[in-house]
Amino acid sequence: MTSTAVTGPNSNPHTNAKKRSARPSAFKLLARNQLALMGAVILALVVLIVIITPILPLPDPDATDPAQRLLRPLADGHFLGTDHLGRDLLSRLIWGTRVSLAVGISASLVAALFGSVIGIVSGYFGGRTDNIMMRGIDMLMAFPYILLALAIVAALGPGLMNALYAIAVVNIPFFARNIRGVTVGIAHREFVDAAKLSGKGHIRIILTEILPNVMPVIVITISTTVGWMILETAGLSFLGLGAQPPQADLGSMLGEGRKLITTAMHLSAIPGAMIFVLVMSINLLGDGIRDVLDPRLKSGALARPAPLTRIDRTDEGAGTTYPDDTVLAVDELRTEFVLGDDSYKAVGGVSFHVGKNECVGLVGESGSGKSVTALSLLGLVASPPGTIVGGRVMFDGKDVYGMSEDDVRDIRGGKAAYVFQDPLSTLHPLFSIGDQLVEAIRAHNAVSYKDAWAKAVELLGMVRIPNPQSRADNYPHQLSGGMRQRVGIAMALANEPRLIIADEPTTALDVTVQAQILKLMNNLRNDHGTSVLFITHDFGVVSEICDRVAVMYAGRIVEMGTTEQVLHHPAHPYTKRLIDCVPRLGEPDRRTSAIPGLPPAVNNLPAGCAFADRCDRVEEACRVGSIAFDDLGNGHGVRCIKPMEGADV
Ligand code: ADP
Ligand code: MG
Repeated sequence: MTSTAVTGPNSNPHTNAKKRSARPSAFKLLARNQLALMGAVILALVVLIVIITPILPLPDPDATDPAQRLLRPLADGHFLGTDHLGRDLLSRLIWGTRVSLAVGISASLVAALFGSVIGIVSGYFGGRTDNIMMRGIDMLMAFPYILLALAIVAALGPGLMNALYAIAVVNIPFFARNIRGVTVGIAHREFVDAAKLSGKGHIRIILTEILPNVMPVIVITISTTVGWMILETAGLSFLGLGAQPPQADLGSMLGEGRKLITTAMHLSAIPGAMIFVLVMSINLLGDGIRDVLDPRLKSGALARPAPLTRIDRTDEGAGTTYPDDTVLAVDELRTEFVLGDDSYKAVGGVSFHVGKNECVGLVGESGSGKSVTALSLLGLVASPPGTIVGGRVMFDGKDVYGMSEDDVRDIRGGKAAYVFQDPLSTLHPLFSIGDQLVEAIRAHNAVSYKDAWAKAVELLGMVRIPNPQSRADNYPHQLSGGMRQRVGIAMALANEPRLIIADEPTTALDVTVQAQILKLMNNLRNDHGTSVLFITHDFGVVSEICDRVAVMYAGRIVEMGTTEQVLHHPAHPYTKRLIDCVPRLGEPDRRTSAIPGLPPAVNNLPAGCAFADRCDRVEEACRVGSIAFDDLGNGHGVRCIKPMEGADV
């Protein structure tokens, strides 16, 4: 072993660190949103102009000149014309925009400050504090919004500052409610408890644990309310309650122009257009900021995922033939996630088959593409961002990607069923397990509720749940983890599937329950002749249940063979090292060795073997071209140019 051979992924000369950054930056994401970008450019332009207004060669906005009154736009010396007192409209527009923008932004900041403090304090402390503060906020909210603003200005007297206070006050509830909701959600999370246990005081917890988590919400709320605030200020000025003559703001200009709308339309049209442009650009930018800051929106969560993964294939597999009793055949399957300019090749050409009554294991480190492979089989990968870009999946002799949506839906949960890793998140918390089984049965069979219920009870008995009659009325939270997983398996069995795709079904369970579940699956397989695709990262589990094993690394199968071949005569150095990682009972002296380094990022795979960086047998030839999958005979195959010695059995 050379000392440079087994190091982290960054030592690979074929990659550069910059391209590896997993997600595009916030700014890049914002720039990709063209409407938001347009808003940002317009707003930046307006802001720039209002900042440099004092040094612009503009006439005094308040200087009257009766001789020059009501000039049309493009008049000599007055680009936008003049108003009824002969004041230059361009100058008033720019100074007015300056005032409106300043008042709108200040009001937002004031409302955000007080609203956030109220929201965080009441959400964090809860109980009586929360009650008193929120009832106060409710009282503010009981008044119609603009009426309250009018009442406040009426009480304080007309004027720009008073309008600012009024607008800020009526918007405080909006911030307080939003921020309180978010704070309540995180105030009792484990990391806050941990901070309390470490001895931090309330103020420090609020500042260092709560605030950073609610900050995006505060920013989003500000960015989406500034536009509103500008409109509201303009509204008050329009009614004569905001800016007082001769001072110009967009609302008062509109109000003055309104009186002459028939004789000099430009007096109201110009400030009106300015309000439109300003509010529009702020809102577009605000929406863009919201999309960037909300991580769920980044991956396109708002776009409803298609019922079937998008299929955009450049090839339909290598056309490999499989034995007659094959239930599932996967031929050069490739699934990618496209995020911006990056495509993540989560599954990069996977071929295997599962015969009748056979259990095939799919093993690999976390992130090697096992789950995406399993989901791709029946088009369950969310699109966007997932796309099946190549290959073919034959189920029961039919091409799944050539089927109609309805046909695929018919197979899902019918002839092919899934069992997932975490049974608590797959079961619906609000329905009894009996009802959920009934739903699974009735989705594929036209039977009465009563018959389906009887079948559900029978299924629960089949997966060895004690007292199935009474247990069927239980809700998921009333069961133990092992029982829940049994319910998951019962649900998969509901329609006598030909194939069960089990994605780490025992990973969340302790070893005794794990052994029971494995035994159960083995029995069911023997009794019903079901085929199983069993996904796991645990070689111990593999030896218990699988007939054949495929080892996956960075989206490709690197070794495939019978369980005996792969476990006892591994051909790929990766398989060998994976097996060496498993501790053995009764052999305390045997050193388990972790595999150094990390799997490569699938958006930037190196040439040659993806494992080369971590392999202690690496040579120059491992880093060029693509490594073929070689047959070692007897159904044992490996994707390595220098397989381990003694593997060809
Ligand atoms: P595992 O082998 O642990 O089941 P997965 O199949 O879940 O791994 O993931 C394989 C790769 O695909 C990982 O690199 C993961 O980051 C990526 N991936 C999975 N789901 C998505 C998604 N929705 N968007 C982008 N990348 C994803
Ligand atoms: Mg997984």
